[in-house]
Parts: sequence; C-alpha cells; structure tokens
Amino acid sequence: MKPANFEYFRATSIDHACELLSAHADDAKILAGGQSLIAAMNYRLARPQVLIDISNIDNPSQITDETDGVRIKATTTQAIAEHDPVVRERLPMLVDALEHIAHFQIRNKGTVGGSIVNADPASELPAMSLLLDAEYEIQSKSNRHVMAAEDFFITYMTTALQSDEVLVSILFKEPPKNCGWALHEVARRAGDYALVGSAAIIALDDGGKCVHVRVVLFGVASTPVRAKAVEELLVGQVCSDELFEEAAKRVSEVVDAESDVHVTDEYRGNVAEVLTVRSLVDALNRAQTAS
Ligand SMILES: Cc1cc2nc3c(=O)[nH]c(=O)nc-3n(C[C@H](O)[C@H](O)[C@H](O)COP(=O)(O)OP(=O)(O)OC[C@H]3O[C@@H](n4cnc5c(N)ncnc54)[C@H](O)[C@@H]3O)c2cc1C
Repeated sequence: MKPANFEYFRATSIDHACELLSAHADDAKILAGGQSLIAAMNYRLARPQVLIDISNIDNPSQITDETDGVRIKATTTQAIAEHDPVVRERLPMLVDALEHIAHFQIRNKGTVGGSIVNADPASELPAMSLLLDAEYEIQSKSNRHVMAAEDFFITYMTTALQSDEVLVSILFKEPPKNCGWALHEVARRAGDYALVGSAAIIALDDGGKCVHVRVVLFGVASTPVRAKAVEELLVGQVCSDELFEEAAKRVSEVVDAESDVHVTDEYRGNVAEVLTVRSLVDALNRAQTAS
C-alpha cells in the first residue's frame, strides 16, 4: 500500500515546527523517525494532509546531564540514547528498555519522543517514563509547559498532547542511588512488541526496608500502568517471598487486559503476575548487592 497524498514540510527548528502546526491545525502530523507513522500511513490507518518533518532539526546537545536526572530531546534517536555514556551511567534501566525495542535498524531511525507520543501501551519508553517519574516539556506556537508522564497517557495511542503541540524533551528522573531495578517482558520473537511487560525499581535503607518502590506494567491495559497497590504494600517493609506473593495478588487490580489474535486476556493477567514477581526479585537482589 502507498499513503494517501500529503503535503510535506521540513521544519528547521522546534519553533518552526510549532508555526507550521499552528497554521495547519488538525490536518497536520509531526514526522520524527517515521517508524510508526509511515507504516500507519501506508496502511491508510493515518491520513494526515500535512507532514511536518522534525528529523533534521539541528540538535547538537540532545542529551543533558541535569541535577535530578537526564534530559533527552524528543528527536534523539533510540540508538543514540541507548549508547549515550550519561544515560548508561545514570539510567541503566532505560538502556535495558531501549535494547528491548525492535531491532537496531529501527532504533537508528525511531526517536525517543516518537515512541512516547505514539503511546502504544505495549511500548517500553512510555512505561519507563512512569517508572522514572518523567516530565515532558511541551511546546506550541503560543505556550510552553511541563506535564508529568502520569498525566500524559489517555488510552490506546492517545495522549494529552494537543494537535498544535510538539513534545520537545523528556526529563527522566534518576532514582535513588544504590537502587536495584529489573525489566522483564514476554514477546513472540526477539524484537517484537511485548505481549506483557513489567519493570520495577527498589531502593533500600540501611535496615533493608524499602524506601522507594516503582512497579510498572505494559501491554496489559490501554496505557502503561503503575501498580500503586503493589508499591504501597512494599514501602517501609523488608521484602520477603511472602510479601512478593501478596504483591502478585495485587497486580490484577491494574490489569485490564483484552484478548487479541496473539493471546487471551487470562494469559496476559497470569503473565503480568509472574513477570512482576520476577522484576521485584531481581530488583531486590540488585539493591541488596548495591547497598
Ligand atoms: C518492526 C517494528 C517493530 C517495533 N517494535 C517495537 C517495540 O518492540 N517496542 C517499541 O516501543 N516500539 C517498537 N516499534 C516502534 C518504534 O519504537 C518507533 O520508533 C516509535 O514508535 C515511533 O518513533 P518515531 O520516531 O519513528 O515516530 P514517528 O513514526 O515519526 O511518529 C509516531 C507518532 O508520534 C508523533 N510524533 C513523533 N514525534 C513527535 C514529537 N516530538 N512531538 C509530537 N508528536 C510527535 C507523530 O506525529 C506520530 O503520530 C517498532 C517498529 C517497527 C517498525
């Protein structure tokens, strides 16, 4: 299939992209790496009349080391983020997630911002945004604001971004030093989207009690979800097998899985529990080794 006709503009800056978006309102779409949008256009699932290409914006400092985390410009390719020394040093869990995205050819073109705005509930980067309390810098022609990742994802492939807004950068917050983390997912083949995924972060105090816990699931609902009931159960506690068994029971509270051509909703629910316990056990082991 070939896409429907469209007009093409190459933006020279984010300001220029915002000008173009403002001029073309609801008819226009931003084109970043094209790894999701072009396929959708070829299948005629998307028919934007105007494409505004931001992939060639001159962007020398794409990744910035900030006090409370690492800021990544939205146009940064997934491959650049994956191999960046600052990201590898401060956010190794993000590197792990990036390595799970498709294949390196796709990561060479696909951008960090494109994956987040695309908002596929099975994608790794929206889930990592929740895990790392990310903040999104958003710009339109007349406004610039920051939105917490937790407020961004509405439902399948739908976000709170307005049609005249561009995602400019993402601040992924660094979790406490000496934390442990893990990400597990089940996919039909290496490089496929996850059928179900789970990621966890645990930080311990000197007595071995959890002081910071994040648990996120993806591929199990219409958006990535934080398992807050699990986090609340673990904070202030010394982890044990019994506690993790109890945690597994609470996973179902956030799972709203649907059956599809790949697996049943029941399968997704069961695997979500198993992967969450696996992530918690591995995160705890890493935290114990680090502290
Ligand atoms: C074979 C294959 C396998 C894949 N497997 C995975 C996988 O396992 N996990 C995974 O997470 N992803 C996977 N992907 C998707 C990949 O990660 C894409 O790169 C990503 O979803 C979109 O990024 P992009 O830069 O290509 O965005 P595009 O395709 O250019 O755009 C995607 C959407 O985001 C909008 N957009 C992009 N950037 C911005 C911005 N800065 N501001 C506002 N709107 C913006 C576009 O208008 C469009 O609606 C796969 C893709 C392919 C082709």
